[in-house]
Amino acid sequence: MSLRLTNTLTGKVENFRSILPNKVSIYCCGVTVYDLCHLGHARSYIVWDVLRRLLIWQGYKVIFVQNFTDIDDKIIKRAEEEKISMEEVSEKNINAFFKDMDAIGILRPDRMPRATKSLNSIRRIIEELEQKGAAYSIDGDVYFAVKKFESYGKLSGRNLEEQQKNAAGRIDLNQESKKISPFDFALWKKAKSGEPSFNSPWGLGRPGWHIECSAMAREELGETIDIHLGGSDLIFPHHENEIAQSETANGKELANYWLHNGMVNVSGQKMSKSLGNFTTIRALLNSGISAMTLRLFVLQANYRKPLDFTQEALEAAAKGWEGINSALSIGFNYSNLMHWPKEQKIKDKAIYKKLKFNDNEFSDLYQRFNDSMNDDLNTSSALAVIFELARPLRALSNKIKRGSFKSVPESENKKLYSRWLILYELTNVLGLKAEAEDDDEEALNKQKNINKNEIESAIRERLLAKKEKNFKLADQIRENLRSKGIELIDKPNGETDWLLK
Ligand SMILES: [Zn+2]
Repeated sequence: MSLRLTNTLTGKVENFRSILPNKVSIYCCGVTVYDLCHLGHARSYIVWDVLRRLLIWQGYKVIFVQNFTDIDDKIIKRAEEEKISMEEVSEKNINAFFKDMDAIGILRPDRMPRATKSLNSIRRIIEELEQKGAAYSIDGDVYFAVKKFESYGKLSGRNLEEQQKNAAGRIDLNQESKKISPFDFALWKKAKSGEPSFNSPWGLGRPGWHIECSAMAREELGETIDIHLGGSDLIFPHHENEIAQSETANGKELANYWLHNGMVNVSGQKMSKSLGNFTTIRALLNSGISAMTLRLFVLQANYRKPLDFTQEALEAAAKGWEGINSALSIGFNYSNLMHWPKEQKIKDKAIYKKLKFNDNEFSDLYQRFNDSMNDDLNTSSALAVIFELARPLRALSNKIKRGSFKSVPESENKKLYSRWLILYELTNVLGLKAEAEDDDEEALNKQKNINKNEIESAIRERLLAKKEKNFKLADQIRENLRSKGIELIDKPNGETDWLLK
């Protein structure tokens, strides 16, 4: 069975086919960086992290792009409240984002564009929409004319005319008076006095929220991407508007597969700040729930359904994780006692393959895991395989801890080792890691992000500077990168590559 996924666009479970063989491009809507991440973010990013790990495990080369919305009303408001700049609010929360996502074992995206660093591509796509007659500007604001996109509503299944009828009495005409139709949405917002603003053909202002994703997805991944991800709360209007913008500008489908995760409830109630049941990832981890317990808890549920956080459910997940953790820990804490090869050898694929299927008994479990994951990411059924694999190892671990362990015959020991190797490999697909394990990934994450994102945004700033004929700034940026050992190469097509010296 090959991978099947529920596509919101068709409402069906479909076979997944990538545009290019063995390559998958993914765009995931990121956070607005005005505050700490909460359990809704944790759920969403854990689920998509598992999708990404699964595709990698199945042999795809995955490019995963996730944006930061770093200009927005909420950020501006927060900056005023805290009496710091918008950039400081963003920077602080971007750092917190990485800290929290690293803590719960999310692989860092390959690229993380920011709205304020993507203004060129944002302005370009708005101009294209204007040229195509799908956008209009009034007094410094630019709107998308929803009527110009015939398939508007195809993702959410909303019919525009019905919507208009239903909403007729509810829309505040005073506030919306500039728009031709109440459903038109802002592509560019005129600057209010005192607000951070940027240059544009329409005057000083800032981009609307939806347009940044259309611009960044195209900039980073091209006109059509394989998979677009987000929470189900983004289907309307955000994703509907992304489709309208991108497909009008490019004349092509924005994404072949649209996947959405369900929302988070807390003890049966929708989680929200106003209800006071709002929990940040940090607060949950500080309360003593381990990161892996949180992952296990999230993965026990179907990713598309609502997920209810209750104390009891978390406690049950903690018990479940304890079992898996003690099974996994044998390979790290007691490999000498078991005379198992050292952990480094797992990373040698040839040795690993030979050891793994010492016994055919496990190929069936392996297959069941793969089939479960292929079945629209059925993680709860995949976890049943994990628990089955872990059970004898857990019993062994208990014996070792109690001091009642006596050596086992060689054939049985080999079998236990095969079992452990498979458990190790499959838990890694779910991002579940033994608490005793060294975190190479974390180190790699840090290295990857600090360098790549900084370099890429510096390159964009430099291109902008060159366009604005600010050659002094452009040279400064090049020198600054050079001093860090990074050399820029300007290509004939106007793009810039970089290499480490
Ligand atoms: Zn988006």
